[in-house]
Amino acid sequence: MMKQIRKIVTFKICEKIFTTIIKSIIDYGSMFYCNTTLQNLQKIEKLYYHSALICTKAYKNTNRVKLLKEINWDTFSERCKYLSMTMFAKIKFTKTPSIIYEQFPFSTTLRHSDRYKNNLQQLLSRRNHFYNSFFVKMFREWNKLPSTIKNTGNYEDFKNLLKNQQDININNYTYENYQDTIYLSFRMQNSLLQSDKYKMGISENNLCINCPTGQQETLFHFVFECPKYKYYRQNFLNQIKTIAKLKNVTRRNLLHLLLNNNNQNFLHPTEYKFIINKFTKYIEKTKRFI
Ligand SMILES: [Zn+2]
Repeated sequence: MMKQIRKIVTFKICEKIFTTIIKSIIDYGSMFYCNTTLQNLQKIEKLYYHSALICTKAYKNTNRVKLLKEINWDTFSERCKYLSMTMFAKIKFTKTPSIIYEQFPFSTTLRHSDRYKNNLQQLLSRRNHFYNSFFVKMFREWNKLPSTIKNTGNYEDFKNLLKNQQDININNYTYENYQDTIYLSFRMQNSLLQSDKYKMGISENNLCINCPTGQQETLFHFVFECPKYKYYRQNFLNQIKTIAKLKNVTRRNLLHLLLNNNNQNFLHPTEYKFIINKFTKYIEKTKRFI
């Protein structure tokens, strides 16, 4: 159904549908999935992955973890970990009815150094099933948290600190046109460039089929060298000339920026967005991937 809907809605709306209709239902039971079978977990991971493929229109062989990271979605196991920990913290910080809090024998260990200050006494368990249950497992997981998070005095700060631990992709790109899908495939390294196809084992060599230079068709070749796209390249480079000159963006730099994120804010976000827009226009104009 999502596939049909995606044909008429944008990436952001499709993502919203996934978050509100699918993800929220799974989240509701996340506490119990801690102890489910590997097969069940894989089924949910698959559901996340397929939803991400539909939302981004990425190729089917795109790496799952890379793709989810690209669009700032947690994998299901990360999500499960986060939700279980916040639920545990909610109980610990007495944000749930006392009848629940009283079931949990919270007592800290006797070590008082900053690192161990808020460590909890572990619960004893003889059986594997109980050992892996939410009840016992979360006492172990709590002690593994960095002391800065463990030593927080309230639930809201705890939740924010836990969330901030995650590596956020600030690219914030949306995937609407076919050239966006191509751009995404460059970043995921499963594009239709000869070099990527060769690496994936679907081409016998990595040489450029669009020019007689005999060079490998890498992204660098496609963006800067292939004589077939000389005209469009000139346009593209002219359009970004001012920013490139101002920020001393070399060819290698530019390639790195296109394939990775605007790390350490090398460019202003609007400059970065501008360059990506012009680059996707270049992809469109070359008609290399039609
Ligand atoms: Zn070429």
